[in-house]
Amino acid sequence: MIRVVVCGAAGRMGRLIVRQIAGQKDLKLAAAVDAPGHPMIGKDAGLVAGVQKLGVAIVESTKLNEVLKKSKPDVLVDFTVAEASVQNVKAASRAGVSVVVGTTGFTEQQRKELERAIKRGQIRAVVSPNFSVGVNVFFKIARAAAGILGRDYEPSIVEVHHMYKKDAPSGTALKVAEIVAEELGLNKEEIKIKSIREGEVVGDHTLMFLNPFEVLEITHRAKSREAFAVGAVKAIRYVVKKGKPGMISDMQDVLGLR
Ligand code: NAD
Repeated sequence: MIRVVVCGAAGRMGRLIVRQIAGQKDLKLAAAVDAPGHPMIGKDAGLVAGVQKLGVAIVESTKLNEVLKKSKPDVLVDFTVAEASVQNVKAASRAGVSVVVGTTGFTEQQRKELERAIKRGQIRAVVSPNFSVGVNVFFKIARAAAGILGRDYEPSIVEVHHMYKKDAPSGTALKVAEIVAEELGLNKEEIKIKSIREGEVVGDHTLMFLNPFEVLEITHRAKSREAFAVGAVKAIRYVVKKGKPGMISDMQDVLGLR
């Protein structure tokens, strides 16, 4: 049985992760955490997620150290905000608990802090801005297309998300830019990204390669956030069985796409 702590358990993604965990025979919700003062603190995480009562109350993140000691989880899953995520991963590192991080919007400094914490505690980690299987195949196709087309075509990215999303450009768009830039020998900043925030869009990404005569477009549309939650469950199993101490794996590793 893999015991999981969910950080951000009352959030849009956290609720879906709790729901997924409740439906898996080999996973158990060991604890659920959210921000101090959140109206769902003290409520049962299963009921908040819209499944059966799981007997796990959502507790404040200020108590995370105690929670990790008491509930003895194998994995901490984090879908919160960048600043909180760094603190949560540091706590997991001190407790020797593996992490699956879905949070996006890290500054370079925060990403370094994350890497240092994972190394220091020699914990296993999967960090990915996008857990959807389709998007990770998109990454692979993007790399191949950029490699074949080379610099004769100008790459450009458009991403559309719901208006509540806190970071822009999306972590996924930045990852696509990084992949394309790597293949073309450019800096990530040289790849144009247009971010649109409107309505309830779960997440659309289009990568275009343009020249004066033609355009090649690769598009992924997430229809439901469940796509990310299902991928996060794969990452939980991977990090426990195949994660390497002190190293960060991503969804390309989890899905065997490398
Ligand atoms: P959300 O705002 O609905 O949920 C975030 C939750 O985290 C909230 O309930 C908030 O109260 C809580 N939180 C804040 N500080 C906390 C702390 N210190 N400890 C514990 N909980 C804390 O947001 P969301 O849509 O669920 O997205 C969360 C993050 O996941 C964002 O960064 C988003 O971009 C990212 N995301 C990643 C993927 C992926 O596949 N990797 C998919 C969707 C969203």
